[in-house]
Amino acid sequence: APTPTPARHDTPIEALRTVYGYDAFRGEQAAIIDHVTAGGDAVVLMPTGGGKSVCYQIPALVREGTGLVVSPLIALMHDQVDALRANGVSAAYLNSTQAAAERAQVERDYLAGRLDLLYVAPERLNTSATQALLQRGRLSVIAIDEAHCVSQWGHDFRPDYLGLGDLAERFPGVPRLALTATATPATHREIAERLRMPQARHFVASFDRPNIQYRIEPKVEPRKQLLAFLRAQPEGAAGIVYALSRKSVDQTAQFLRTQGIDALPYHAGLDAGVRAAHQSRFLREDGVVMVATIAFGMGIDKPDVRFVAHIDLPKSVEGYYQETGRAGRDGEPSVAWMAYGLGDVVQQRRMIDQSPGDRTYKMRLGQHLDAMLALCETVGCRRQNLLGYFGQGADPCGNCDTCLTPPETWDGLVPAQKLLSTIVRLQRERGQAFGAGHLIDILRGARTERIAQQRHDELKTYGIGADLTEQDWRSVIRQLLARGILVAQGDYGTLALSEASTGVLTGSTPVALRRDTLGRGGGGVSSRG
Ligand code: ADP
Ligand code: ZN
Repeated sequence: APTPTPARHDTPIEALRTVYGYDAFRGEQAAIIDHVTAGGDAVVLMPTGGGKSVCYQIPALVREGTGLVVSPLIALMHDQVDALRANGVSAAYLNSTQAAAERAQVERDYLAGRLDLLYVAPERLNTSATQALLQRGRLSVIAIDEAHCVSQWGHDFRPDYLGLGDLAERFPGVPRLALTATATPATHREIAERLRMPQARHFVASFDRPNIQYRIEPKVEPRKQLLAFLRAQPEGAAGIVYALSRKSVDQTAQFLRTQGIDALPYHAGLDAGVRAAHQSRFLREDGVVMVATIAFGMGIDKPDVRFVAHIDLPKSVEGYYQETGRAGRDGEPSVAWMAYGLGDVVQQRRMIDQSPGDRTYKMRLGQHLDAMLALCETVGCRRQNLLGYFGQGADPCGNCDTCLTPPETWDGLVPAQKLLSTIVRLQRERGQAFGAGHLIDILRGARTERIAQQRHDELKTYGIGADLTEQDWRSVIRQLLARGILVAQGDYGTLALSEASTGVLTGSTPVALRRDTLGRGGGGVSSRG
């Protein structure tokens, strides 16, 4: 396609209206754009979907020269450039997937001043050929997207980002913006330091979504719980139910349909035509419930999604925040609901163990999961926990399940000791390890075939936990796993002790557990009956 000629825009608001068709800036967009357009550097922290792109695109449209965008995600680069071109903006990219002739054309366009925006991957930007090319043209602004990748202590460190600090000397006088959706205050300072932006103004948007009510309940009978949740929603409300696997998406959608709910499946395994039809029904009609894998939702513009339900545990708090954030874009009251249980923890630990990455990679996944579990098991305000994860302080919100019905805690030290000593005995005396189900049978003194076969009724701990129900025990085990006092191993999720178990066995580590409640509307019913 021929490169469109760059159009000059007089003011940011004029560019917003003519290029994007939006009426007004949102949040801090106007302040950021004014600051950068006037030549200032900026570090911007804004949640995903907050509208970061226009913060650098508009200064590039208003200032003389080409805006350089450093972006690590090649797929996203394609999408952005296509979208910009569709809006009549003269945009292009340079990356490794490109044919030589195409690259040469982009280079000519840049040098001739025909580009408003040029996207470049960091590894390409660090080559001397690209540096020389950029020096010969004229840059209006430099945007560094996913700027947290420069942090060596963060989750997504990319060595290529360290080279970006040199841009300060190479292009003096060109304003720079570093943008990210995830950064603690410490990472923020690190970004400014490593990218050499000491004078940058910091813009930190709030991650709070006050109209979303957060609710997380233990998974006991997932289908029944989901159905009760959906039936409690207002007539005609549209929402998304997220599940982890395609199979679970298909089965859940089918089940909901038999229950009279207008549910549709959506995942990458479905035919493109079916996916498009389901998506368009969800966007256009009232009361459609989309049952989907996380493939669904990116770039979906439906402001009146009233609820997002998770029937499987998300892998990270970032993921949870992004998915639940699709609810209530119109600012009206909305609900983020989730059911999660022992099985989720075991499954995700197994997936991490079996993932192909190296030790550091697995450790990082483990940290993500731990933060997610901490959010699930907190006895404090969910919102406070969630915002705290993003480095933002907040008061208890009054609009989450734990604020509305503060959970009770109970002393779980003795049950925890009973469980841990059962595991120790089995290991020492028999060289055996088991999953949660069989351990609970031993503790509760059940008479199963397996117990008889293995003569586990002869263990000293047989029947010492009969005072708790099976559900109570599952809750204990789930919480011990969540805190790393227990670990789940192998394909069958057999339970084993960790370093943290010692303190519990000796009684020096207190074990305050959350008493599980099953949400019914606003209130809560104890699962202990
Ligand atoms: P981010 O990069 O922060 O995740 P985007 O820049 O992709 O977010 O913007 C998210 C969505 O919001 C996009 O669909 C974008 O077009 C839209 N958007 C951005 N700014 C505005 C605005 N001022 N008014 C309305 N919609 C906007
Ligand atoms: Zn709260």
